[in-house]
Amino acid sequence: MIPVLSNVLTGKTNEHVIIDSRIGVPLHTRAVFPFLSLQKEAQKSGFDLRVASAFRAYDRQLVIWNEKAQGKRDILNYSGGSTLDYNQLNREEVLWAMLRWSSVPGASRHHWGTEVDIYDYNALNSPSSEALKLIPAEVEGEGSMAALHRWLDKLIDAKKAFGFFRPYEMDRGGVALEKWHLSYTPQSFLYDESYTYDFFVEQIEQSDIELKDVILQHSEKIFQTYMKNICPYPN
Ligand SMILES: [Zn+2]
Repeated sequence: MIPVLSNVLTGKTNEHVIIDSRIGVPLHTRAVFPFLSLQKEAQKSGFDLRVASAFRAYDRQLVIWNEKAQGKRDILNYSGGSTLDYNQLNREEVLWAMLRWSSVPGASRHHWGTEVDIYDYNALNSPSSEALKLIPAEVEGEGSMAALHRWLDKLIDAKKAFGFFRPYEMDRGGVALEKWHLSYTPQSFLYDESYTYDFFVEQIEQSDIELKDVILQHSEKIFQTYMKNICPYPN
């Protein structure tokens, strides 16, 4: 694989992203205008669509992963409703629990710059960063972000979401349901196609990552269940 592409796929470069002042976080150069269009569309319906997180660099993901693996950060349970007792888990259990909510460094779609975790600023209970939780309860039923997502459902169904779709719209037994996670398909589809199993294994072997031996032992299952097991791309 050409080095430029492998660095983009693993978040080891930021040359594919830019920070537009209207968005405020680094996003793929090709996703900026489509996102601004989505933002304008949202505004017409009274939503102040903002991005909580978009591009994430490899180094950042590595720190998060390693701290969780060492028990220095909370690990959520399967439903996301509570945290697990790290001391009760063996290394394999730690790995599977982490994979539900975190990507292996170098294998996160957020490295690509094409992914955004979104929210409605108007619906925050208070303007502090703690007000946003990005948990399932927030986006369903009476949740504060439910109205935004009902609006988005319709837009995506009508194929009018400017190329964005939800790869984690449903719980497929791998990564948890994350309705707030949108992907700019015209670009992410290409990255996804380029990301092969051999490449996954190769980059884990080269990395300085906690639980490396257990990851390599289960590399095929991790690749199929947590990386490739997303909702089908819209056609
Ligand atoms: Zn996300």
